[in-house]
Amino acid sequence: MNTTTSTPTTEDLVPAPTSASQASTYQQLRAHLAALKLHAAAEHLPTVLATAQSEGWSMTATLEHLLAREVDATEARKLAGRLRFASLPTPATLADFDFDAAPNVDRKLIDELATCRYLESATNVLLIGPPGVGKTHLAVGLGRAAAEAGYRTYFTTAADLAARCHRAAIEGRWATTMRFFAGPTLLVIDELGYLPLPGEAASALFQVVSQRYLKTSIVLTTNRGVASWGEVLGDTTVAAAMLDRLLHRSVVLNLDGDSYRLRAHHAHNDALRAATTGTRRPLH
Ligand code: ADP
Ligand code: MG
Repeated sequence: MNTTTSTPTTEDLVPAPTSASQASTYQQLRAHLAALKLHAAAEHLPTVLATAQSEGWSMTATLEHLLAREVDATEARKLAGRLRFASLPTPATLADFDFDAAPNVDRKLIDELATCRYLESATNVLLIGPPGVGKTHLAVGLGRAAAEAGYRTYFTTAADLAARCHRAAIEGRWATTMRFFAGPTLLVIDELGYLPLPGEAASALFQVVSQRYLKTSIVLTTNRGVASWGEVLGDTTVAAAMLDRLLHRSVVLNLDGDSYRLRAHHAHNDALRAATTGTRRPLH
């Protein structure tokens, strides 16, 4: 080995070749890794070889360590790609969901959903509740968990889905767009019911739901109870048919109660009040 220096450079870490032929074999190995685009393995080659020599690793163990660096880098790249494609609107995760603030949410059920097993049976998840209770947070968290577990995931809103389908119809790309929304293993559709989706928009959503039925999962959030979906979709028959497909294999979470935003607002006001008057209004 080289003499020790306080800050070893890459060259220090490369085992000193004992012969010219060893040096050229090393250069060839680097060239092979570069030709095969195994850039992470190429980058880690000096350190892996140096550690192999100092720790007395077998050839098998050395190769395993080297290729593991490449596999790690490939996995990280794929994950970054899946997360980019997923288009999640916020960094919310299931881990930072505060269950104490949402007593109606069954933690065990969310833990089960976090395993992503529901995706294997093409089960849908419906999150129903008034604004501010954490529907989007949970939907984004489920999306992130799915992408991290290796599933192709895509996040959209009901309004955006309808607008894209409308543009697609005008531009003659209907079939391509339907294939796009059929593709991901998990499709998150946020905010059904905030805007009415009559006529063409409702049938686009219906078609997306139908073609995924029993094949791939949908996580859908809505502020409207299922009884008023006829109103939202402007057609009770379409609403009933869509609900049939969504609910057939599904988990429904009713998130009722105090809005998280209002809760923070109340707490903030309470803190201000306490600071100014020295009294504290009891919470609820
Ligand atoms: P909704 O989609 O039901 O209108 P959001 O998911 O957008 O509500 O929640 C509003 C804000 O409050 C978001 O910033 C979200 O992260 C936060 N929030 C809501 N509920 C919780 C919770 N139980 N734990 C942590 N953050 C929450
Ligand atoms: Mg929301």
